[in-house]
Amino acid sequence: MKKMFLGTNWKMNKTTAEGLSYTDALTDIISKYPEFEFFIIPPYVQLWKIRELIDSKKSTLKLGAQNVHYEDAGQFTGEISPTQLKEIGVDILEIGHSERRQYFNETDYTVNLKTLAALKHGFTPLVCIGDSMQDKKYGVSKEVLARQLKIALHDVPADAIGKFWVAYEPVWAIGVNGIPAEAPLVNDIHNHLRDVTVELYGEAGRGIPLLFGGSVNIDNARQYAPFENVNGLFIGRSAWQPDSFEAIMKSL
Ligand code: PGA
Repeated sequence: MKKMFLGTNWKMNKTTAEGLSYTDALTDIISKYPEFEFFIIPPYVQLWKIRELIDSKKSTLKLGAQNVHYEDAGQFTGEISPTQLKEIGVDILEIGHSERRQYFNETDYTVNLKTLAALKHGFTPLVCIGDSMQDKKYGVSKEVLARQLKIALHDVPADAIGKFWVAYEPVWAIGVNGIPAEAPLVNDIHNHLRDVTVELYGEAGRGIPLLFGGSVNIDNARQYAPFENVNGLFIGRSAWQPDSFEAIMKSL
């Protein structure tokens, strides 16, 4: 099996107690799957405690935050800065998830500013892009995704390759009302995204990990995983219980 990134964003779910017990179980499970690189993205308020737990277990599990502001400090009530997340020892910053774009006015331009800020502070940005159902219906998904990716990576230098990841998450596939994507579509879009990264960075662009997310589950994970340009799976609901996440690991 090729090296893959496997991780989950908890969104606004789990109490701290639940988050800790999940993390405790997951750190035990992942030690049996050294071929994969794992990450979890809990809510902000749990990050300190979960960092301590991961460290106390000497686990390789990477820790992410679900959002970040692009300024180091300032008059931005309710926001969290990269400096503050650095202090906690967060590894990954998730940027531009479709729920952030849809409900919190994130744009391709703020995604770019946040990506640059994350890299400046030595995080691994996990840049999320996705087409809407309308984009799909009108046949413009590839154009929309190329545009999102090019703006997100504007001014990101080639020497940052390997230090950031991209997740393709079709908006129409995400969440309880999402429709799982057909495997050939995932392959086609990921090949297209690879063409875009090669257009931007030349052959070095092949080194940018492309993760897929949106209703990934026990039935479809093994269909998506073998594609050459699927370098990881970014899972929501189906990984929110350690045993269901492990079932997916086993299926790959
Ligand atoms: P889902 O979430 O797997 O529950 O559809 C995916 C995501 O939003 O990252």
